[in-house]
Amino acid sequence: MSYSDNVLASLKSRYAYQPEFLQAAQEILSTLQPCLDKNPAYEKNRILERITEPERIFSFKVEWLNDQGGIEVNHGYRVQFNSAIGPYKGGLRLHPSVNEGILKFLGLEQILKNSLTGTPIGGGKGGADFDPKGKSDNEVMRFCQAFMIQLYRYIGPTIDVPAGDIGVGGREIGYLYGAYKRLTTRYEGILTGKGLNYGGSLARTEATGYGLVYFTDAMLKDKGESLKGKVCAVSGAGNVAIYCCEKLYEMGATPVTVSDSRGTIYDPNGIKVDVLKQVKEVERASLSRYAELVSTAKFTPVSDYPQGKHQVWTYKVDAAFPCATQNELNEEDAKTLLANGCTCVAEGANMPSTIGAINEFLKAKINYGPAKAANAGGVATSQLEMEQNAGMTSWTFEEVDSKLHGIMTNLYNNTAATAREFGLDGNLVLGANIAGFRKVADAMIAQGVI
Ligand code: NDP
Repeated sequence: MSYSDNVLASLKSRYAYQPEFLQAAQEILSTLQPCLDKNPAYEKNRILERITEPERIFSFKVEWLNDQGGIEVNHGYRVQFNSAIGPYKGGLRLHPSVNEGILKFLGLEQILKNSLTGTPIGGGKGGADFDPKGKSDNEVMRFCQAFMIQLYRYIGPTIDVPAGDIGVGGREIGYLYGAYKRLTTRYEGILTGKGLNYGGSLARTEATGYGLVYFTDAMLKDKGESLKGKVCAVSGAGNVAIYCCEKLYEMGATPVTVSDSRGTIYDPNGIKVDVLKQVKEVERASLSRYAELVSTAKFTPVSDYPQGKHQVWTYKVDAAFPCATQNELNEEDAKTLLANGCTCVAEGANMPSTIGAINEFLKAKINYGPAKAANAGGVATSQLEMEQNAGMTSWTFEEVDSKLHGIMTNLYNNTAATAREFGLDGNLVLGANIAGFRKVADAMIAQGVI
């Protein structure tokens, strides 16, 4: 058995109750063996055993009062996964499905993603099983304050800098930041995604979606292709999906779908980004509201679809951008996309494709941009926000956007070059994993074991 297979088998026996973590570990470890064979120091230093185990996990109770004065109890976490190349960095997710295994999958991905950005940040992730849906602003505020009462002692601008993720946008970051400041009396960059008038960076809101499209553009250009004229399927209707749609139009492509937890919107004329922002960012409503506002759009509730999931992958498109959540695109969906002529898939969400789906994309040799490379623009721009906070300065939108563009182009080039180095031209899964891994592994070896 190879070193990577051995470590994976051991993880499977210890963490059988964390399927998403095991899936992420399998996706990564199954590609690393050529790099481990090339450098025996990685096995000698037991890097795989060490990189797959978080440095520490904080797990805590979050008690808060609802609008009726009743007591609510949630479970919060912060996984500080790896600090070999910089302070822990990664988002906070607020969703009822959150548990330790999901945060460990996200944290493990984050280590390699952050390394790929070429900036000095380690990997972390956190969140709680709190559902912001249906809660009043005051309830969200009280939850965020109670969450920060637990979290504040573990974070700091050179220790751990959380950001947003599913269920955590500008509103939540504002409440979390206000609570931190009151608890510590310190005004410092302990969160990214902050509002512009209290330390936030221009272009951070747009960064993951824009970065995804910059990455895709670089991937297509490398093959002499472009996004111009492409019909695109986008899933999700949150931060990543909205700004992916916006940038697709700028590149001459047309997004024709979006989805949320309740259903799918399809409009062959193209998604209207201003209406989408109004429905999801301002009204915080379901996408059925979008169909009320746009007469050409068709809304299909998830309940009308056999597996109770969105319908985005059933339409005939040239390119697909999964931007909702993990495992939203399975092997069957991949086959449908390919049969319908889709030649490009770039992942905005984390681990949206199952291993079966990834294998289909690799087998078909289409342009496939895996999440840890394609969606790294968000965290890269968070690091730019940290830089601005540390220098007590702020850059223009154009400055940040152009740095983001440069980072995503370099990231693609580095990923593609690494795939070529290992004789698998075009396999960006292997390229991203090895390029991200090597830098962290070398830093771990250099820093020794205590
Ligand atoms: P948001 O909360 O802004 O939006 C998430 C969207 O996906 C919503 O439309 C939501 O529907 C839908 N969704 C979430 N969970 C489910 C589910 N279980 N089933 C069906 N639909 C679901 O999150 P983001 O846009 O920030 O994040 C989306 C993805 O991108 C996540 O995988 C995240 O980890 C990843 N990502 C985000 C980054 C960022 O900067 N924000 C950076 C890198 C990756 P509804 O509106 O009904 O809740």
